[in-house]
Amino acid sequence: MDLVHCIYCSASTNEALSSEELEVLLEESRKNNEALNVTGMLLYHAGSFFQVLEGERAVVEGIYDKITKDSRHADLIKLIVEPIEERAFAKWTMGYPRVSAADLATIPGLNDFFTKGGSFLELEEGRAKTLLAAFKEGQWRSSLE
Ligand code: FAD
Repeated sequence: MDLVHCIYCSASTNEALSSEELEVLLEESRKNNEALNVTGMLLYHAGSFFQVLEGERAVVEGIYDKITKDSRHADLIKLIVEPIEERAFAKWTMGYPRVSAADLATIPGLNDFFTKGGSFLELEEGRAKTLLAAFKEGQWRSSLE
């Protein structure tokens, strides 16, 4: 299997996204992803999204293409697409962590980023990987729902 992860960030087009709207988004994503054997994680912070999609390359490319057309967000930046040996979020059809910006600001290497109110759109590949690691094997993994 040609297993990859695709990591991107984007700007929410709704500046005041409610938790109900986020729930709807997660629910439809989880239903679709389960059928496609796609796993991953979604973060929402300061009006921006950060998402990790994992699965078979052609399937991940297809779902990413569909996501890019969604009017709920804009300005997508594809940060990383690369082969992986195993999934980091195998148990999550789309994990969503219950953590605050203050919690995220304690991640070494990202303190400045979160305390200064940066959005995910300002992340580059290196800090995207630091963020990924905090949920893949770090202290925030247990916060994923
Ligand atoms: P349809 O409901 O037929 O959608 C038709 C079109 O309308 C699509 O272009 C869709 O993007 C758009 N659309 C659907 N609902 C809304 C809405 N409430 N507001 C505005 N436009 C809408 N889907 C996944 O399957 N897996 C994911 O991991 C995933 N992650 C996402 C992350 C983010 C940040 C966002 C914004 C969306 C995500 N989606 C995800 C949703 C995805 O973009 C599609 O809406 C979903 O897959 C259903 O698409 P569809 O064409 O099958 O359904």
